[in-house]
Amino acid sequence: MELTNRQRELCARVRAFVVERITPLEETLDPDESELDEVTLAALVDETKAMGLYNYDVPAEHGGPGLDTVTTTLLAMEMSQHRAGLYVPCYGAFGPSGFAQLYDATPEQRERFLYPALRGEKRVFFGLTEPAGGSDPANAIMTTAVREGDEWVLNGTKIFIGESHRADFGLVFARTGGPGRGGISCFVVETSSPGFEVVRAIHTLRSGTTPSEIRFSDVRVPHENLIGREGGGFALANTALVRIRIPYSAACVGLAIKSQSLVLEHVKDRVVFGKTLSEHEGVQWMLCDNELDIHSATLMVLHAASRADQGLSFRKETALAKIAATEASARVVDRSMQLFGAWGMSKDLPFERWFRELRIRRIGEGTTETQRMVISRDLLGDPHYEALWEVK
Ligand SMILES: Cc1cc2nc3c(=O)[nH]c(=O)nc-3n(C[C@H](O)[C@H](O)[C@H](O)COP(=O)(O)OP(=O)(O)OC[C@H]3O[C@@H](n4cnc5c(N)ncnc54)[C@H](O)[C@@H]3O)c2cc1C
Repeated sequence: MELTNRQRELCARVRAFVVERITPLEETLDPDESELDEVTLAALVDETKAMGLYNYDVPAEHGGPGLDTVTTTLLAMEMSQHRAGLYVPCYGAFGPSGFAQLYDATPEQRERFLYPALRGEKRVFFGLTEPAGGSDPANAIMTTAVREGDEWVLNGTKIFIGESHRADFGLVFARTGGPGRGGISCFVVETSSPGFEVVRAIHTLRSGTTPSEIRFSDVRVPHENLIGREGGGFALANTALVRIRIPYSAACVGLAIKSQSLVLEHVKDRVVFGKTLSEHEGVQWMLCDNELDIHSATLMVLHAASRADQGLSFRKETALAKIAATEASARVVDRSMQLFGAWGMSKDLPFERWFRELRIRRIGEGTTETQRMVISRDLLGDPHYEALWEVK
């Protein structure tokens, strides 16, 4: 697999941005910081805009550069290669993300919600998970939306909802019909609406912002805030989530690549038992295990991206890549911490933050187990099994 000249050039630009702008800046920040002050962020945004890479993953019809999925995946792998990079790649300098469901909104809804969010003027939350569970939202969603004239009245609770404590609006999935996936619809709910309440923050392994529990008590939402068709909310959430899992996995791979590059420098320098760590065969084998993990995960993520670009189904490949990338990168970071000894445990280095935050990745955006269900459903439902290339 070869990169095009354009892909190489874009990757080199983003890498230089991370090395020259983000890493030195991070040395001045608290190790758990996830945000920059407005002035610093605005200056960085000016630079990414000048590169033509602000909102780099947004389709051209919505004002982005319209890069293909392989290219955006490669860039996501570059952008995460710093301490806060897993959850806040470059502290958001390349634009906000995570509301692809709004691409399917009406032109009027896109003007009101999508474009202000893409410009960074409005913050958005994604409200799917409920106290009854997140793996099986088709059955677990209990929040109801009942139509009254030109309005819908929402009641219920969502849990672990990132950004909801300070968002301007949220994408909220509520039950408008009977049981199962066909009974769920998606609404934009403005957080200024009477009856919307942030109940409490839930502290997790993640540095920086915490997700919250939120409650809807007779929240009235205008009918024009229904996104997509009534009963189409589950499909809307699912389609975008499958696609989002590609950059989500790519960011994990980025951390693994950066870990390996830091550890390669360290093992050539640190002397134990009369020779450098790198001269001990046991250490060399650990480096090889890192490399096996990095290569396999990278290729699987790029394969899923490539299928998306070719218009082929990529659900199974994305699920495979998500499991591979989240698990492999955690192993690489863990081995790298071991090779750094006590420094690997310290907040002077990025590993401990990566170690904690990578753990969430086996739960977020579809758990490992639900990805296994996706893979096995596809395998068992396919009458003509073929491994990597379809020749039928
Ligand atoms: C830091 C953080 C941020 C989050 N942000 C958001 C957000 O912004 N918006 C949002 O909507 N949600 C968010 N979530 C919630 C997340 O999406 C859910 O936690 C996730 O979908 C899993 O749901 P659950 O925790 O309810 O686990 P459950 O559904 O209760 O599942 C529990 C365990 O059982 C496993 N399991 C389920 N089914 C099977 C099976 N058939 N076989 C074997 N094992 C199975 C699951 O994989 C999981 O490991 C966030 C979570 C965290 C930790």
